[in-house]
Amino acid sequence: MRIHHLDCCTLCPRPERWIHGRGSLLRAGRMPAHCLLVETDTAGLALVDTGIGAEDVARPERLGRAFVRLAAPRLDPAQTALAQVRRLGFAPEDVRHVLVTHLDLDHAGGLPDFPWAAVHVHADELAAARARATPRERSRYRREHLAHAPRFVPFSSVGEPFFGLPAVRALPGLPADFLAVPLPGHTRGHACVAVRDGERWWFHAGDAYFHHSTIEGGDRPLGLVLFERLVAMDAARVAANHARLAELARSRREDVRVFSAHDLVELERARAAREG
Ligand SMILES: [Zn+2]
Repeated sequence: MRIHHLDCCTLCPRPERWIHGRGSLLRAGRMPAHCLLVETDTAGLALVDTGIGAEDVARPERLGRAFVRLAAPRLDPAQTALAQVRRLGFAPEDVRHVLVTHLDLDHAGGLPDFPWAAVHVHADELAAARARATPRERSRYRREHLAHAPRFVPFSSVGEPFFGLPAVRALPGLPADFLAVPLPGHTRGHACVAVRDGERWWFHAGDAYFHHSTIEGGDRPLGLVLFERLVAMDAARVAANHARLAELARSRREDVRVFSAHDLVELERARAAREG
């Protein structure tokens, strides 16, 4: 297995100091949409989260005015998962599986670019994205991202725990090197995704937290604290998830690399570790 760490849409909200905890009050911050592209031995390519899609870049109104204004996504066609898959020398059809931590627009926007892929998602998340029951869910889940009727393979039943966390194993069609860890809170069916890379696991925590200080200690940037509260479906569970992920990162430092979808420092560390 070979794992590529991609940024499939850099968000540039302002100001930098509120996003990174230091820097300018004038400049914008930088938050990647950290996705994994995994070359498996037996199941083709698997993508973990998708960023925003080619059609979103061409017509950003698909993402909703509030998101575009607040999150300020860089609308660069070269950043889409589709373009990056091609640049790495693969055909888009080689992507046979997509695992999504949740179906928020900045994680599911690339789904229409891989309509043939099996899409693994928590059953509660799929139900929430289809129901769009609250104003918050109507803005975060975009109809356009599901209009092509993706080949969803919903999961829910947990098996053997993963270092004390609930784990969904045996995802259909994928090797045992992939598992999902349901941690609802940010959304109703949010689930982290762990991928084995030799002796260690990459643990994609999705939006279970936003800044590395949340699991490493230190001051969390104000803008992210406020944003996290604003978008959480269940703030108490979000706080409990922070504690569990901090414990996982601390106790399994050698063999589990935990990262958020949107932390630039963690993306850079992951790329350095891959190259080193
Ligand atoms: Zn996100």
